[in-house]
Amino acid sequence: MKKRNLVFLIAMSMLALTSCDKFSSDVTTTTMVVPEESIVEETTLKSEVETTTEKLEQDDELNFMDWKGKREKSGKDILKNETGRRKNYYELNVDFDDKSSTLDIDQKLIYVNDSEDDLNEMYFNIIPNAYSKGYAYNKKDKSSSDSDKDMTCVQSIKIGDKDCKLTRVSGTVYSLTLPETLKSNDTLEILMDYKVTIPKLQNRFGYYDGEYNVGNFIITPAIYENGEWACNPYVEVGDAFYTEIADYKVKINAPEEFKIAATGTLEDGTYYAKDVRDFAFFTSKKCEVMSDSYDDIDINVYYPKKYKVNAKEALKCAKKSFEIYNELYGGYPYDDFDITMTAQSQGVGGMEYPGLIMISISEDDLKFAKTDREYFNEQVHDVVCHEIAHQWFYGIVGDDEINEPWLDESYANFSEKLYNYKSGKKDYDMGNIIDAYMTLFKDVEPPKDKSEFMSNLYEFNKDKDLLYMAIYIKGGKFHYEMYKQLGEEEYLKCLKEYVKTFAFDEVTTEKFLNFWKDKGDFKKMFKEYLYGNEIVDAM
Ligand SMILES: [Zn+2]
Repeated sequence: MKKRNLVFLIAMSMLALTSCDKFSSDVTTTTMVVPEESIVEETTLKSEVETTTEKLEQDDELNFMDWKGKREKSGKDILKNETGRRKNYYELNVDFDDKSSTLDIDQKLIYVNDSEDDLNEMYFNIIPNAYSKGYAYNKKDKSSSDSDKDMTCVQSIKIGDKDCKLTRVSGTVYSLTLPETLKSNDTLEILMDYKVTIPKLQNRFGYYDGEYNVGNFIITPAIYENGEWACNPYVEVGDAFYTEIADYKVKINAPEEFKIAATGTLEDGTYYAKDVRDFAFFTSKKCEVMSDSYDDIDINVYYPKKYKVNAKEALKCAKKSFEIYNELYGGYPYDDFDITMTAQSQGVGGMEYPGLIMISISEDDLKFAKTDREYFNEQVHDVVCHEIAHQWFYGIVGDDEINEPWLDESYANFSEKLYNYKSGKKDYDMGNIIDAYMTLFKDVEPPKDKSEFMSNLYEFNKDKDLLYMAIYIKGGKFHYEMYKQLGEEEYLKCLKEYVKTFAFDEVTTEKFLNFWKDKGDFKKMFKEYLYGNEIVDAM
């Protein structure tokens, strides 16, 4: 029974484990520009977090959002942004219209040129346009919008008193020529007025049956790093997003009967989201809400009535996840956490956004809740604890999810195992579980010259021999091997230090390797999993 159950679990968990993403790589973007992997100079950690008093004083002057969360104010032991880096600031007014499934958005972006270069142009990503007719997603999916127009129609862009224009460069990437040079360390206020059409799709960006998942709807600047723009067009595999920590002040105007779940804390009709990588929301007029809290973190689950059984289990899992991860990774820095439950596209278990996760539900859940409650519970917990782990790995510790997606997915997967182990699940053996999953790869070999860990989303999309799922499952094994080698206590101490070191920053494979290489004798492992990386090859 146990063995059979496990095999069944493996087969079914192919969906759950991959959580935020799809494996299918049947969609290609049009003219894809895949920028060369940017090699980051080895920098010592200390100089990364170079927080001179002078810089901090500058920060205070540039603190565009004067708001503090209750957990921050109460002096709780939470992770704090100590990067000394100046953040972009977004102020949005969003009018949601149910009849036309559109958003009318007024956006003020205060962009900080934190680089040493003067800038004459900027690059932006408009993800909803991946769903426009003729582009990426829509090519193969007949259910999305038939409109000839782009999903995002920009009505005006103003910098000072100058009208500006976005020009499509490739896929979802747009350029903007600045009216005047933006000097290093200067800031720029960009006012945008645009309309977003939400497609009829079971998707993280889409609506179905009156419920709206609204992820990645904001026009966001690409990251300028190492002297170039990280311009990565959206691709329909994984989570093709790469954004910096910023502050958001957002007002969402929806008809009164619509309930809203969103990133950030709602105060006087406005959402305040500080130190987050993105802002997403969900709205529905027919969902139910179930609430609880853990250590001052308000947790809300939004669910269709008949899925109450899922909501209850998800809430239980969320509380336990915060209990475990706060301890292991450092205190969750925000006040709120929302879980929404909607039908999502096939193969997707859930999707993470800062302070908000979207969990997939299906009729099968209700069947299993009745026939095999243990299996049902496992499914809910595995997805929810995976997406909550992303609050730390992707959210707090950011990474380039397009070029190095293994960095957050491997930790989210390993966190599932830690969650199960730490929550005292009966007879739970991390090693056995991981080995059982690894059997999925027994007949699959990646191309000889390619490590999945060193592959980007475009390669996963193109090369059928490269399994995107490997970064999850082999990723989980990779961290487990490090854990085993160092021993639980030492490993968890180092992992906590890793999160603190890169909190509110973006980690790279190079930074990962530089952090871990002296913590133990990992040379052999690194060579096995990360071949093709310059540092590893030189080891
Ligand atoms: Zn994930």
